[in-house]
Amino acid sequence: MNRRTFLEWAKVAGLAVGLPSAAEAFGSPQSNSKSKGLAGTTTPHKPASPEMILLKDYRPASIYKIPVTHVDKAKFSIIDMHSHPYAKTDAQIDDWVRNMDEVGVEKTIILTMTTGAEFDKIYKQYSKYPGRFEVWCGFDFAGYNKPGFGPAAIKELERCHQAGARGVGEIHDKGKGLRSGKSNAEGMHPDDPRMDALWEKCGELGMPISLHVADPIWMYQKMDKTNDGLMNAYHWRLDNQPNIVDLSRMVDILERTAARHSNTTFIACHFANLDYDLARLGEVFERNPNLYADISARYAETAPIPRFAAQFYEKHADRLVYGTDMGFDKPMYRVTFRILESLDEHFYEIEQFDYHWALNGLGLSDRILKQVYHDNAATLLAARESRRS
Ligand SMILES: [Zn+2]
Repeated sequence: MNRRTFLEWAKVAGLAVGLPSAAEAFGSPQSNSKSKGLAGTTTPHKPASPEMILLKDYRPASIYKIPVTHVDKAKFSIIDMHSHPYAKTDAQIDDWVRNMDEVGVEKTIILTMTTGAEFDKIYKQYSKYPGRFEVWCGFDFAGYNKPGFGPAAIKELERCHQAGARGVGEIHDKGKGLRSGKSNAEGMHPDDPRMDALWEKCGELGMPISLHVADPIWMYQKMDKTNDGLMNAYHWRLDNQPNIVDLSRMVDILERTAARHSNTTFIACHFANLDYDLARLGEVFERNPNLYADISARYAETAPIPRFAAQFYEKHADRLVYGTDMGFDKPMYRVTFRILESLDEHFYEIEQFDYHWALNGLGLSDRILKQVYHDNAATLLAARESRRS
């Protein structure tokens, strides 16, 4: 779940998110209680001053008269390797497919994180469009801290595979231990020997694993004025979690896992959260040929460094796969296309990404776009057939 999805969910759940609005802070006439004078008369509108503007309300508008690119449809057909069962009804699934057609998404991988009846239900819903969606299962970690863990989890994995799951995900470990949806394994990390048989079985069945380790670097840093990603970081903060395995050590764990199970394909979600240190991700790729990374939900993190990011894509284009992880509306897809395809500069997408900074297009070449949008994923998915035969 990304922050936007979280906010939508929070709204539905009736949770109060955030602080009073800018209007209230500025004492504008629209904010009822604060706008009244002592006698109940409306005070004149006070112009905002920089001292009163909160970062969360900051909505700068670019003043540059420079080219603006609208990419309605992706330049090449897309396989979206990172999405979730956002659509809950048949009508919503129909809408999603219409959106996919309009923006150029050929196929979407639905990472359900579930097993058992819950998986079966989602699988059935999406099987209405067999060529357009793949529905991947999760792991069942029940009894992970008792002797004898393993055979039952493998049996359920095999059952899901039999039922149609062609991959596994999204499996999370943000530093406290593995999680697959509601199934938790606190304290057990991907490189734990108790996980060996499951990873090996995935390799045997030709099921790639979408594995999310850690979270963006800002979430581990102090929530103060020096935090570059403060607005997002605060909502997903990890700096206040004691005994958490930090980002760097989680990447070590990811690498050890991939190295130990070289017959299994791992897709590290969100650039393995090394969007701030892509050079390190490049080294991890070079040591581990069975490791890919998806670029989902890290568009805003790579768009501030367009030249360095584009060089990274150039060098490791064969290991990166497109993903979204941000719902299924058309504007969302189009923002990702603008960032990958255009050379636009200094534009804002604060409502989409929540960072207060400006974005830039990476201007990727056709060769790289085709690989990342489609060909790498197609190769990876096709490799499953040869693995199983
Ligand atoms: Zn996700």
